[in-house]
Amino acid sequence: MLITVLGSGTSQGVPVIGCQCPVCQSKDPRDKRTRTSILIRTDQVTVAVDAGPDFRQQMLREGIDHLDAVFITHEHKDHIGGLDDVRPFIFNQSNKPMPLFVDKTALPEIKREFSYAFKEHLYPGAPTYEVHLIDETPFDFGDLHVEPIKLKHYTLTTYAFRIGKFAYVTDFNEISKKALKHLEGVEYLIIEALGRRKHYSHINLEQAVEIATHLKVKKAWFTHCSHHMGKAVDVNAELPDNMMLAYDGLNILINEE
Ligand SMILES: [Zn+2]
Ligand SMILES: [Zn+2]
Ligand SMILES: [Zn+2]
Repeated sequence: MLITVLGSGTSQGVPVIGCQCPVCQSKDPRDKRTRTSILIRTDQVTVAVDAGPDFRQQMLREGIDHLDAVFITHEHKDHIGGLDDVRPFIFNQSNKPMPLFVDKTALPEIKREFSYAFKEHLYPGAPTYEVHLIDETPFDFGDLHVEPIKLKHYTLTTYAFRIGKFAYVTDFNEISKKALKHLEGVEYLIIEALGRRKHYSHINLEQAVEIATHLKVKKAWFTHCSHHMGKAVDVNAELPDNMMLAYDGLNILINEE
């Protein structure tokens, strides 16, 4: 299984428009963060987790020519804003509607946002989706066995996705004991870390390190970072050896044996 970090930045992206801070002015490509998303590739399927506003550029950057589904973590714009841009995949894949794996709280928001895709009489060229409602029940998609894990993101519900010894956990400020238990045994973890300070709807770097340490993961990468995090090179120097900030374009190969 190959995981590609499509985007590793928070909702405004990094650099932030108009910001003169050292992170936003940094020349290091690791400090240029498009909106948070990953791509999962196996022998059988290619799946995006979320399709944010940078989805099109991410697909072009990584040269992706086929997509089998999108798993949605939650309905914030930085995670669904690019759902219209799955159209080239639909058109190139015999006009097969794009499977969307989404929970019952995010779906109405997607229907509102992309109302034209859910009309009875579709305007020609409109995207089409095949909705698969998820809850905490594990599901199979191709050769993926997926365990959705429910988290709290201030007033919203978010889903983390565990696939074997890998888990992708973003946009939450609270993780229940039950959710933490579901993550036990994960060896490779991509988890959010918004910045340094405590935040009402996200966890910060300290909390992310704590969870990764508690889970005794082999490796952890932190994503959904804001410009307040600092430069990647400086933050990485402070972190334990098995932890680092994720960056756009990072590839992680996970062998399932
Ligand atoms: Zn987000
Ligand atoms: Zn900045
Ligand atoms: Zn969010």
